[in-house]
Amino acid sequence: SSSERSCNSELCVCGMAFTLKERQILGLQGLLPPKIETQDVQAMRFQRNLRKISDPLYIYLMGIQERNERLFYRVLMEDIEALMPIVYTPTVGLACTQYGQIFRRPKGLFISIMDRGHIRSILDNWPETNVKAVVVTDGERILGLGDLGVYGMGIPVGKLCLYTACAGIRPESCLPVCIDVGTDNQTLLRDPFYMGLYQRRDRSHRYDELIDEFMEAVVDKYGQDTLIQFEDFGNHNAFRFLKKYRYKYCTFNDDIQGTAAVALAGLLAAQRVVGKPITEHTVLFLGAGEAALGIANLIVMAMMEEGMSQAEARKRIWMFDKYGLLVQVRLCSTGEAFVHPRPGEGVRSFLDAVNVLKPTAIIGVAGAGRLFTHDVIKTMGSLNERPIIFALSNPTAKAECTAEDAYSLTQGQCLFASGSPFGPVTLEDGRILVPGQGNNAYIFPGVALAVILSGVRHISDTVFLEAAKTLAAQLGEEELSQGRLYPPLSNIREVSLQMAVKVVEYVYTKGMAFRYPEPVDKEAYVRSVVWNINYDSFLPDIYDWPGVSHSPI
Ligand code: NAP
Ligand code: MN
Repeated sequence: SSSERSCNSELCVCGMAFTLKERQILGLQGLLPPKIETQDVQAMRFQRNLRKISDPLYIYLMGIQERNERLFYRVLMEDIEALMPIVYTPTVGLACTQYGQIFRRPKGLFISIMDRGHIRSILDNWPETNVKAVVVTDGERILGLGDLGVYGMGIPVGKLCLYTACAGIRPESCLPVCIDVGTDNQTLLRDPFYMGLYQRRDRSHRYDELIDEFMEAVVDKYGQDTLIQFEDFGNHNAFRFLKKYRYKYCTFNDDIQGTAAVALAGLLAAQRVVGKPITEHTVLFLGAGEAALGIANLIVMAMMEEGMSQAEARKRIWMFDKYGLLVQVRLCSTGEAFVHPRPGEGVRSFLDAVNVLKPTAIIGVAGAGRLFTHDVIKTMGSLNERPIIFALSNPTAKAECTAEDAYSLTQGQCLFASGSPFGPVTLEDGRILVPGQGNNAYIFPGVALAVILSGVRHISDTVFLEAAKTLAAQLGEEELSQGRLYPPLSNIREVSLQMAVKVVEYVYTKGMAFRYPEPVDKEAYVRSVVWNINYDSFLPDIYDWPGVSHSPI
């Protein structure tokens, strides 16, 4: 019967017509998106694809990943600078919005709220038993694109590709998961190709119970030290789950903590150029969500390491969100630690805030597009000899400003980084500046590798502080003089391995590592275990006996 409903592979998009019972009996539950599709819809998708292939490069690349994984990773690693924007931001964002059309073969595990009570048995359907790392999303805040429901699966898949490409973590030990509790995206709820449950997001206790059950099932199946990375959850849930699980599981939230480390690394690199200690900076954020709070808290930790008190450090950090500056007398849901007395009257716009607070750095993490206006950039240029301008919102269209604007409006004086890639900028005087990409991929693969290799039970924020320092330290003077705040992406493999070595050393020194015996030479250890793309031999273990005589003496 399976051949009637699917092509030669049950896991192909054609398999989505399997009924609930069939999925359960065939061990396919979880391996297909939650929706049970009619052949009519399948035919419609097929016909539409015949007319228009949405993103040929993404589809082509991911097709190779399916057919020959080692070849895929070899090509990805050899040209990571060109291909990372495809498997990751910005193209992965486009791929997610069109997931229902380009989907051919699911590469991760889907767990819907209807599966409550059965998550452990769904995990048994996943073919790999030696999972070390899970990246999970519920699709509510995909990049800066909002709620994409189960179409968000592209993100855990893309992130785990980078675990392997950047840090040599074996692909079979990586498990991408998408949790489906519905979507509040009206367009998707009306889309016949949508692949999740047609219902609004369940925000009741059932959602929390589902995530609890998921965490328990993962460690039950794969062990207590399985790394679980939370990715692209809505703001409120991201903070809640981090707080709830951080000492109970080996977990981190990349949008909060990974972002924090990569942004702090950029600031530390900028500081090497500006020659001003971190404690003398005043930072103004646009946005007060996961990224802003994560970064702000890590900056505070870095300032405290330099001897400042927490209260003093917090005073140097301001946030401006949708409703204006975070100040006393207004109600805020997040960011309490960065609510300060009103700095005088008349701060209505972000530009006003820049004029009044005179920040040395502005960091855009609002996901709301080009809000660093020409006036904002010029003002930063007149207030500071070397203004720091980070436009971190993704994908490219959501960035607060372009690299071109940032450099040209400050006569090449600003230290710029963005979340999505921008090419080099040539100024009127002929100088060529290379914008930094504050890409979380500089942090999470290296940290994940270190965590997996050293048996860390809980990932403390100090681990991310350590990772940020290592990253900033890997830039040479030459690179700094080109305006680079991050090492070239083409070096990311080496950067990640070096970071993993440093973090492994750090967690053993601090008594946070539980893998025994402790490797004596950490670098040799890290390098000996990374996965490589050479084909395994299909021959059995064949060898000669050296110089053995088989004749009687
Ligand atoms: P989030 O938790 O939803 O936070 C967004 C924040 O921006 C909220 O405080 C929101 O206020 C505020 N905001 C929205 N529209 C605004 C406007 N017009 N003016 C001022 N503030 C506004 O999201 P997030 O996780 O922090 O991510 C935000 C952006 O950063 C996304 O585009 C994401 O892709 C990007 N990001 C980049 C990196 C990176 O480059 N390394 C890493 C992580 C995130 P309300 O809460 O009132 O809506
Ligand atoms: Mn993310």
